Amino acid sequence: MNILYIMTDDHAFQAISAYGHPISELAPTPNLDRIAREGLLFSNAFVENSISAPSRATLLTGMYSHQHGQTHLGYGLNPDRHFFTEYLQKAGYRTAIIGKWHLNVDPKGFDYYKILNDQGEYYNPYFRTSESDGKYMQEEGYVTNLITDAAISWLDTISNDRPFCLMVHHKAPHRNWMPDLKYLDLYEDVTFPEPPTLFDDYSTRGDQMRTHELSVAEHMGYAFDFKVAQLQNEPTLKYIHDSFDIAMSTMNEEQLEIWNASYDRKNKEFLQNRPEGKDLVRWKYQRYIKDYCRTIKSVDDQVGRLLDYLEEHDLVDNTLIVYTSDQGFFLGEHGLYDKRFMYEEAFRTPLIIMYPGGLKGKHCDELVQNIDYAHTIMDAAGLSVPEDMSGMSLVPLLKGEDISWRKSLYYHFYDYPSVGMARKHDGVRNERYKLIHFYGEGYGDDKDIDSWELYDLQEDPTEINNLYGDERYEIIGTELREELERYRKELKISE
Ligand code: CA
Repeated sequence: MNILYIMTDDHAFQAISAYGHPISELAPTPNLDRIAREGLLFSNAFVENSISAPSRATLLTGMYSHQHGQTHLGYGLNPDRHFFTEYLQKAGYRTAIIGKWHLNVDPKGFDYYKILNDQGEYYNPYFRTSESDGKYMQEEGYVTNLITDAAISWLDTISNDRPFCLMVHHKAPHRNWMPDLKYLDLYEDVTFPEPPTLFDDYSTRGDQMRTHELSVAEHMGYAFDFKVAQLQNEPTLKYIHDSFDIAMSTMNEEQLEIWNASYDRKNKEFLQNRPEGKDLVRWKYQRYIKDYCRTIKSVDDQVGRLLDYLEEHDLVDNTLIVYTSDQGFFLGEHGLYDKRFMYEEAFRTPLIIMYPGGLKGKHCDELVQNIDYAHTIMDAAGLSVPEDMSGMSLVPLLKGEDISWRKSLYYHFYDYPSVGMARKHDGVRNERYKLIHFYGEGYGDDKDIDSWELYDLQEDPTEINNLYGDERYEIIGTELREELERYRKELKISE
């Protein structure tokens, strides 16, 4: 069986129409929906640490963050850890990865790679390949399209005497959400529905929800995030100010002219009559969600191109197709952008899988997690799974077999102090309840913290009523704390 694994960066399930969220009704994703129609949509898929590099390392190793070492964004993957691609390659698979890599070790187990420099650029990005002698070479074009071009070119070079495993890792829809030129004005006349918690006042939460730097209202930059270049010097975090120059620096003059004409037009009214208070937050949300969905539009187009390629080459019946993201994302829920927190929108990740001969057009509600991906691919490839992988194979679920499945999930976010200043926390979630423990020493003005949250997701799906300490939930709280302790002990969590 061939493997086509497509992963985006920061794609919220709210922005995939197969998941049925109101946002995606206005910005549909017909090609991602094709995978759902022909495959299985996981409605309860989660990550174990909602941030990019740890999630990528988990995908490749099948391990939790503390097991592979990449607990933080910027450092850590243990170079001795094996990637599932090494096993596939040994078993005779042709293997390739195209797109975002962003790990501190070189790709292992790939016949071919073509990877972006660091986070990569949206326009005219730099790629390094397994053949470029360590050099990054710039290519003209839009990143999502170029990654797909390279994926198709690689598929064209291989013959069908051996199976392939191709990983297509998009940069989009990562911050700062720069759309392709042809989509700059898409959705401009649409008003997206605001999430009910856009103005969440965090009244039942601890300090951690008042000291983060991840709010739409206060922590996004006018130039970098909202594309109002005229306001680059309005007060903002220094990295946001500098990031704008970097993001624009790879565009050529012709691209820049089209870009500026579009945003100047869209910014005119805003600059003439700048809204304030809640109206300003509403304006920011609309600008953010539109650019976000514009970058998704290109992802959807390009996934469609790959699906068409598979159909035209009679590969659909023997290829496992996975679509997922490295984690979910807040699209204004709790007033947030970004990820990191264990609240549903960031903790969840979209996951849609087409398994030849498996379930079609169905949803699966089991609690699955990104520790399961390596396991699943090894299983689908007919290989025995190494003992150091932590997850479970999703293949029985994909085939619709009646098997016993896990009843809860463990989550742990470590990367503090860092961009966004989200505090360290771990927690457990079962079908109905979630327990979160924020902990650790404070940095700068932040205080040391030891703060618990408990949510009844059935009664309170938007997670605004922290029930920790509520006597009606005493037994449930105790059970969840025991479950958390069980995970911490079994997984040998040391912090
Ligand atoms: Ca990410």
